[in-house]
Amino acid sequence: MYSESVTKLIQQFEKLPGIGHKTAIRLAFYILESPKEVAEEMANALVNAKNKVKFCSKCFNLTENDPCEICSDKKRDESIICVVENVKDVVAMEKTHEYRGYYHVLHGAISPMNNISAGDIKIKELLQRLSDDSIKEVILATNPTVEGEATAMYISRLIKPLGISVTRIAHGIPVGGDLEYTDEITLIKALEGRREM
Ligand SMILES: [Zn+2]
Repeated sequence: MYSESVTKLIQQFEKLPGIGHKTAIRLAFYILESPKEVAEEMANALVNAKNKVKFCSKCFNLTENDPCEICSDKKRDESIICVVENVKDVVAMEKTHEYRGYYHVLHGAISPMNNISAGDIKIKELLQRLSDDSIKEVILATNPTVEGEATAMYISRLIKPLGISVTRIAHGIPVGGDLEYTDEITLIKALEGRREM
């Protein structure tokens, strides 16, 4: 239906998460109908980001400098590491301005269904960091999903014998949420994570 180049462009957009065939066509035509500079700027931004951005060798957050900005911040509490599944979770935690420790990004969660085992995510690297005496607490902030819970459980079993405190964030009902429509896992976790008032 389309020429070879156009088809290729559509196929590239289709590879992006959340982009279906129709949207891919729309994006491809947006580019084709735009001035040449738009395409060049976009292509440059892609290649530039890919070349410059890498993973922090300490926490595995995305960064242009290694170690990353957070790991280089000496004002943070070096006794706490917060373990998250993805880079986006670091951003979410940072937005709260509540947490002042360091992070460790696992890059996934254990999921036998998707063939992801403990060796496929950055657990070994986390344990290596814990050999440093300064760490007193590890907060497991993996997602409240079956995979996230399994991963938290697995890691806590490895860490507890090291004499380091392991905590799990409480997953509550979202603000504005209705108990009636809250799923079981959320409700159980909210109950477990209850605090004295
Ligand atoms: Zn880092």
